[in-house]
Amino acid sequence: MNIILLGPPGAGKGTQSAGLVERHGMRQLSTGDMLRAAVKAGTPVGLKAKEVMDRGELVSDEIVSDLIDAELAAMGQETGVIFDGYPRTAAQAEMLDAILARNGRVLDHVIELEVDEDALVERITGRFSCANCGALYHDTANPPATPGVCDSCGGTEFKRRPDDNEKTVRTRMQEYRAKTAPILPIYEARGIVSRIDGMAPIDTVAEQIDAILRG
Ligand code: AMP
Repeated sequence: MNIILLGPPGAGKGTQSAGLVERHGMRQLSTGDMLRAAVKAGTPVGLKAKEVMDRGELVSDEIVSDLIDAELAAMGQETGVIFDGYPRTAAQAEMLDAILARNGRVLDHVIELEVDEDALVERITGRFSCANCGALYHDTANPPATPGVCDSCGGTEFKRRPDDNEKTVRTRMQEYRAKTAPILPIYEARGIVSRIDGMAPIDTVAEQIDAILRG
């Protein structure tokens, strides 16, 4: 099973991907996570990507597609994949087709998380994660059960993404509207698009995703 989770920043792609990994043993391929790892490690890709990411603009199609290609090539075909934050442009969608074909994979579902854009800024500027295990939280919507202690690993250090500020978020949303939303018709023509209300509670969204995967 290979699926794309599509939706603007803050729609819940990362949260839902983590749930799918846990429930179904799928692999999450997040180009955002890969790029942040590259930035942290100071690799040539990271050095190139950092400023673009800080502005909320899109990194080049070739860079992100190469990252995805390398991950898939190193992975067994039996593992299902969730593409999280990729593809984000028509060119990437085309590259993904070629990458999937090369790796003997077929795209089963494109799931769009629909969200109210006004609520997104609130969602994004309130989010943070465990510095140790990466578990995702939100100041008001999804705080740790014990304040300051990670539910998953007990860690006490948390971090926020540098691009989760209002100015950058607005640019990221603009990029989504201008470049990413227009790729939906490509997949609609193939009859594999489903839409879910991404404003619903996390568990409700998860149930609806599972229903789509069950067919
Ligand atoms: P995300 O974690 O998906 O919100 O991505 C964070 C940032 O990484 C984005 O704002 C872009 O600068 C960059 N990025 C992630 N995925 C892609 C992609 N598929 N294409 C271009 N840039 C990307």
